[in-house]
Amino acid sequence: MPPVMPERIGRIGELANNLWWSWHAEARRLFASLDYPLWRLSGHNPVKQLLEIDQQSLQSAAADPSFIRLYDSVLAAFDRDLAATETWCADVCPSLLEGPIGYFSMEYAIHNSLPIYAGGLGVLAGDICKEASELGLPLVAVGFMYPQGYFHQHINPDGWQEEKYLDLDFNEAPIDRARSPEGEDIVVRLKMGDFAIAVGVWEVRVGRTRIYLLDTNLKENPEPLRKLSARLYIADRDIRIQQEIVLGIGGVRVLRKLGIDPAIWHANEGHTAFMMLERLCEKMAEGLGFDEAINRIQATTVFTTHTPVPAGHDVFLADSVDHYFGDCWRSIGIDRATFYGLGGHGDQQAFSMAALAMRLSAQRCGVSQLHGRVSRRMWQPLWPSLPEEQVPITHITNGVHVPSWIAPELYFLLEEYLGKDWINRHDDPGLLAAVEDIPDDRLWAVHQRRKLSLLREIRERLRNRWLEDELNRDQFLAMGALLDHDVLTIGFARRFVSYKRPALLFRDFNRFKRILTSKWHPVQIVFAGKTHPADFPSKHLIHQVFSMACDRELEGRTAFVEDYDIHLARRLVQGVDVWLNNPRRLQEASGTSGMKAGLNGVINMSVRDGWWYEGYNGKNGWAIGSELPYPNAEIEDEVDSKAIYHLLEEQVVPLYYDRDRNGVPLGWMKMVKQSIRSVLAQFSTRRMLREYSERMYLPAAAQTSISTTVRREP
Ligand SMILES: *Cc1c(COP(=O)(O)O)cnc(C)c1O
Repeated sequence: MPPVMPERIGRIGELANNLWWSWHAEARRLFASLDYPLWRLSGHNPVKQLLEIDQQSLQSAAADPSFIRLYDSVLAAFDRDLAATETWCADVCPSLLEGPIGYFSMEYAIHNSLPIYAGGLGVLAGDICKEASELGLPLVAVGFMYPQGYFHQHINPDGWQEEKYLDLDFNEAPIDRARSPEGEDIVVRLKMGDFAIAVGVWEVRVGRTRIYLLDTNLKENPEPLRKLSARLYIADRDIRIQQEIVLGIGGVRVLRKLGIDPAIWHANEGHTAFMMLERLCEKMAEGLGFDEAINRIQATTVFTTHTPVPAGHDVFLADSVDHYFGDCWRSIGIDRATFYGLGGHGDQQAFSMAALAMRLSAQRCGVSQLHGRVSRRMWQPLWPSLPEEQVPITHITNGVHVPSWIAPELYFLLEEYLGKDWINRHDDPGLLAAVEDIPDDRLWAVHQRRKLSLLREIRERLRNRWLEDELNRDQFLAMGALLDHDVLTIGFARRFVSYKRPALLFRDFNRFKRILTSKWHPVQIVFAGKTHPADFPSKHLIHQVFSMACDRELEGRTAFVEDYDIHLARRLVQGVDVWLNNPRRLQEASGTSGMKAGLNGVINMSVRDGWWYEGYNGKNGWAIGSELPYPNAEIEDEVDSKAIYHLLEEQVVPLYYDRDRNGVPLGWMKMVKQSIRSVLAQFSTRRMLREYSERMYLPAAAQTSISTTVRREP
C-alpha cells in the first residue's frame, strides 16, 4: 500500500511527476531531506521514493517547520515557472506562441529515472526540452518509451563489455498514460507492411514542456511487434526501419489525435524523417499536387544533422523500403522513381533518411561552425548547381542546459558573487565578468568537494559490484580502487568508437607511465563509456583500456568506470581537473561533454574539432596539435599523442602543482575562471535555443501564416 500523503504537503507527488524538480537545486534538496537514505537508494528518483516511503517519515516532514518552509518555497517557484506569461518567447518571438513546435527525436536524456537515451544526441534533446520550458517556447516533443532502454554495462573479468538489460518498472518512472481531451487512452494505428500495429502513448512533464513517448507493447499487437519499442538502437535493419516508421508516422498521428497542431516541425537527426513523409501524404490527401505539397512541408520543417561521416547516417535498402512504402507511393499517386528521388543519395537503390530530411526541410543546420562546413561539403551533391559555400545548410552550435549540469556548490557560490538571479541571466557576458571576484581559495574548495564526491561515486559503484560478483584483484584495481583525491585527474568519458581514439594516450607506454607515476607530481586518468553491442572493433578499444587499467606498472592511476550514464557524467564533468578529448579531426560534430566540464571550471584539453574549434580562446584551456587536417591517420595519431604528452609535461602538470602557501594553484584558477566565463557565455542551451528561435523557427512560422492565408483564398 503506498502511503497516504499528509494534506500539508499534498502536492509533493505532483512535483515528483514533473521533471522540473531535476534541475532545481532546492527541489532536489526537498526530496533529499524527506528521507535521505531512501533518496539515495531510489537512485534519486522521487516517484519511486514516494511509493516506498513510510507513513511516519511523511508525518514528521509535514510537522517540521523547516521542511514546510522549503516545501512552500519550492512549490511557489514551481507554480511561478509553470504559469509565467512574461517569458523570453513572449517578449522576443511572440509569433511562435501561435502554434507549437513539434520536436522529434529517437532519444531523450532528462534524468536517470527515465533511461531512454544512449548518449549525446539524447542529452541534447533532453536539454532542449528543459530550456524550452524556461524560455516559454511552446515545444511538444515526440519519442519512444523503451522499457529496456539502452543497456547497462558490465566489464567481465577478462575485460570485455557485457550488456545487461533491465526492465524498467513503469510505476516507478515519471510517466503517465496520455489521454485525449475526452479522457481516453490515446492509441493510434498504422500499417506496417502486412501487419497493422497499434501504438500507445505516455506523457512526460518537463516543466511546461510535454514529451509524448510511443509504446508498441499493447496486448492487441502480435508478439514481435510488441517488442518493437523495447530497446534503443537495435542493429537489425528491419526492426530499425519499423521503429522509425512508428516514430515518424505514428508520431504525427499521435499529435493529431491529441489535438496538437504544430506550426513548425523539427527533426533531430535523420531517424525521424518519416515524420515529413507522413505530412506530405496528409497534404496530398487534402488535394495538393506533389510539388506544392513538398513546398508546404519544406517551409515549415527544420532539420538538424549531427553526423559528419556518411556511414553514420541511416540508409535502408530498396527491398525493405518497397515492402513498407509500396502502398504509400501508390496511394499518393506518385511512381516508385519519384519516391526514391526523395531519399536517394549516391546509390539510387538505397533510401537515406538524412537525404530525405534534407529534401523535405527548408531550414537545415549542423551542430557547430566546423560541422556546418563539413555538412555543406558532404551534401553538396544534392545541390549540384551550387558551389559548396552556398549549399543551404547553416550551423547552430550546440549548448548544454546550465542548471542541469552545474555543480550545486558552484551554483550557490555564483549566487553569492553574481547575484541571486544569476541563473536566469547565465549567458549574459556582462554579468559573468564578476566570476573574477570569487576568491580563488573558495572556488578551489568547491572543486575539491566535487572531486571527493566523484571518488565516492566510483567507490560506491565498485562496492556494489563487489557485493554482486566478487571481483578479482585486477578488476578492483581497474575500477578505480586506488584513485587519490590529491592527484591531478584527467577525465575521458564518452561513447567508445574508434574516431574518438580512447587509447591514443597509450601509444608511447613508457612516456605515459612516467607522467602518471611521477613521485611528486603524479597524474591519474578516469575512463568511462559504453559501446554499441554490435560494434566489435570498439569493444576491443574498451578491452584495451581496461587491460591497461589492470597493469600494475601504472600503479592504479588508470581506471575504467563501468556503466557511463548521465548520473556518472555529472559527477565526472564536475569532479575531474582536466577533460580530455582527442577525436580524429572533422569527425566530432560538436561534442557536448567538454561544455559541461568547462562550465564547471574543469579545463578542456582537446583537439580543435567540434565545438572546441570555436570555443578555444587561448586562455580557457589547451588545444592539442594543429588546427589543420593531417595527411593521414597514422601521422595524426603520432603528432597528437606527442602533443598531449608534451602539454601534460610542460604545462598542465606544472601549472596544477604550482601552489601558494594555502595549497591553492593560483595560475590554474585563472584558467578555471576563463573556462567558466567563456563556456557559460557561448555554449548554453539557452543561447542555442534563442538562435534556433530567431534563425530557424521564426522564418518557418512566417511560412506557416503565409500558407494559411493562401489556403483561405477561394
Ligand atoms: C554529454 C553526454 C554525452 C555526449 O558526449 P560527447 O562529448 O558528445 O562525446 C554522452 N553521454 C552522456 C551520458 C553524456 O552526459
